[in-house]
Amino acid sequence: MTNLSHTDPEAFGILQAERNRQHTTLELIASENHASAAVLEATGSVMTDKYAEGYPQRRYYQGCHESDQAEQLAIDRAKALFGAEHANVQPHCGTSANIAVYMAALDPGDTIMGMDLSHGGHLSHGLKLNYSGIYYNAVFYTLSKDTEMLDMDAVRDLALKSRPKMIIAGASAYPRTIDFEAFGKIAAEVGAYLLCDIAHIAGLVAGGVHPSPVPHADFVTTTTHKTLRGPRSGIIMCKNKWAKKVDSAVFPGLQGGPFMHQIIAKAVALAEASRPEFADYAGQVVANAKALADALMEKGWRLVTGGTDNHMMLVDLRSRDENLNGHVASGALAAARLVANKNVIPFDPRPPMQTSGVRFGTPALTTRGAKEPEMKIIGQWIDQILTNYEDKTLIARIGDEVLKMCEAFPVPNQK
Ligand SMILES: *Cc1c(COP(=O)(O)O)cnc(C)c1O
Repeated sequence: MTNLSHTDPEAFGILQAERNRQHTTLELIASENHASAAVLEATGSVMTDKYAEGYPQRRYYQGCHESDQAEQLAIDRAKALFGAEHANVQPHCGTSANIAVYMAALDPGDTIMGMDLSHGGHLSHGLKLNYSGIYYNAVFYTLSKDTEMLDMDAVRDLALKSRPKMIIAGASAYPRTIDFEAFGKIAAEVGAYLLCDIAHIAGLVAGGVHPSPVPHADFVTTTTHKTLRGPRSGIIMCKNKWAKKVDSAVFPGLQGGPFMHQIIAKAVALAEASRPEFADYAGQVVANAKALADALMEKGWRLVTGGTDNHMMLVDLRSRDENLNGHVASGALAAARLVANKNVIPFDPRPPMQTSGVRFGTPALTTRGAKEPEMKIIGQWIDQILTNYEDKTLIARIGDEVLKMCEAFPVPNQK
């Protein structure tokens, strides 16, 4: 970054510090990952300069030949990777992808039915403060109090009672496999459209370690920066009969010029995700999550649902210490270079800024090359820190150990 370091030392300094932060901490936030150097190169490229309003072969500007090629490449790769009939690769993020789907299929005031935010759903599935909750009538299914898992009978009952126009399946903090086929049956029974939001698990679906929603859903949305390990962005996939409505909802409905640098970076990430190594990666993400979950449970920490099927887990902090909350726990972990987030757990009595849980995910650690033996060690560190969260000396000592692991497993985009 020789140009930046000369022209803007202040911004360059911030970037250097962030690079250093990533190098010297272990990323356990389940929604984060480390994109490849190739993806970063495409993201920081000359495509930043281009206006390409419209779609390939139908643009409002001249000079779009290369933009057409880039966007078509991303579309073709998304369709091939997920087996989708149609793909729109212009949404700027996962939330805007969802909003575009609502706009394509619903009228304001229609009923949508998603997973309760406090049980692991996403704010774009009907939160009162979000566009989705302001313009649509949102009803929510919750998890079973006994199993903390989705109860498909309860989902069906609520669907029969509230007759939603759209059912949304997908979550941000749910550690188990989602039965998209069962959601598809319920949607068909009540005459609702089905939107499957695979923002968190897209990489697992691409890698073949989570069932695909594509055969069962009218719409599938995803982010591209979580397990899919691409640039920060979104994609919508749908059946052909929805193609036109989805495309016009994205542009001109919600967005102006597409971010062509993000779109070409999406194409790069989609190609990476279609290689056999990526299936190995996805399998290792899940194996690592199981290993970390086992290590924590061995020490007596209760996990929500008693384990994990995917890339993440939620620890119920009360299981070992009634007084420990997620805010304090995540702070103590961060002091030892282990970065995670506090998270409400199902039926959590504490407010969202405090919480009774922390969420851990393995996508970023796995990208660094960490495997089961490292998960076991990390699990022991987490246990020690959460057991002695006021012991600054111990936390600093573990922080030194974490730093050694960071050096042994460098972030691959910056080697
Ligand atoms: C992360 C996430 C999103 C939205 O992602 P942004 O890119 O942050 O807007 C949407 N849905 C689910 C389920 C998510 O986890």
